[in-house]
Amino acid sequence: MQYCSRCVYPEVAVNLILDDEGVCSSCRVAEEYNKLGDEMWSTRKQKFEELLDRYRNPDQSNYDCIIPVSGGKDSYWQAHIIKKEYGLNPLLVTYHGNNYLPEGQANLDRMRDQLGVDHIVFGPGIDTLRKLNRLCFRKMGDMNWHAHAGIKIVPMIVAVRYRIPLVVWGEATWTIAGMFSPDDYVEYNKRTVLEHDLRGYDWRRMIDEDEGIEAKDLLWLRFPSDREFADLDVKGIYIGNFFKWDPNQHADLMRELYGFEMARQPFERTYRTMSNLDDMHENGIHDYMKFVKFGYGRASDHAAKDIRDGYIDRDRGIELVREYDHVKPRRDLERWLEYTGFTEAEFDEVADGFRDARVWRRENGSWIKDNIWDATS
Ligand SMILES: [Zn+2]
Repeated sequence: MQYCSRCVYPEVAVNLILDDEGVCSSCRVAEEYNKLGDEMWSTRKQKFEELLDRYRNPDQSNYDCIIPVSGGKDSYWQAHIIKKEYGLNPLLVTYHGNNYLPEGQANLDRMRDQLGVDHIVFGPGIDTLRKLNRLCFRKMGDMNWHAHAGIKIVPMIVAVRYRIPLVVWGEATWTIAGMFSPDDYVEYNKRTVLEHDLRGYDWRRMIDEDEGIEAKDLLWLRFPSDREFADLDVKGIYIGNFFKWDPNQHADLMRELYGFEMARQPFERTYRTMSNLDDMHENGIHDYMKFVKFGYGRASDHAAKDIRDGYIDRDRGIELVREYDHVKPRRDLERWLEYTGFTEAEFDEVADGFRDARVWRRENGSWIKDNIWDATS
């Protein structure tokens, strides 16, 4: 197994490639972003302002834009910029997957109060969510598929229904894997969302007789049609293309301005306490499944990002990966088993079926893989 020589990503990381110098595509794109000087960022900011001017509602007869929010530090920051810096009237839209941590829920509830904005919170029936947890875990080893899908689809349904053509997303997440350059100004498009966020599965693939999931349970998973998008001229932009994106700074600023709360207790699988408060399983067994599949987890993601932003060096990153990536999150697993009715033995059996042969081998009854600390010693 090869690892990026700058961060801690293994070559099997999703959508990643290592170049001839052993540097990963994610680090290369970060390098491009870091090269953008203040002048470039101010040009980008100007572009953003021109966009807002073009879409701003002229006569107060509708909202100026939609901001999809989870109530996390980044969505606070987005809403802050749009509402407080530019004085627009946004409509916040949340997909609620029913698994918020209490502090995440408190952050979400506080947005209306702190920012003085209107807010639609959409949640599918909990029975359907439990079924989708089970089905998608079996189907693709990802119990949180519903969340990845709901977050990306529900705000677009609201955009079309409310006739609000501008949707302002946060970080252009595909840049993390190095798929796009800053100059691509990547925008929301259904095809990329379907292929990446939804892993190629649309709502029709979720109709399931055994679980009892019917078409009527999945209305919120249907993208508006191309026709509807075109008629309204819907534009989904990523604010991360226009402003320097530093999650650590967002968290500090949002704490200071709005009393944003971090996790009240440490996570079992990563050292960061400011992310993923909107779904307790996201940093827990959902992420553990990434480790089972590909041999790395969120501690690797967080360390890689923090190395690139200069908060830690690579040695410290490797220590963190060693401490967290392999951990089976007991507390979180227990809750999920109770939520879905799986036993731990069933969970393990399904999980093991997803182990990637490029990463794992079986030795004396245990699953073994190469590790980054051996690769560098
Ligand atoms: Zn890298």
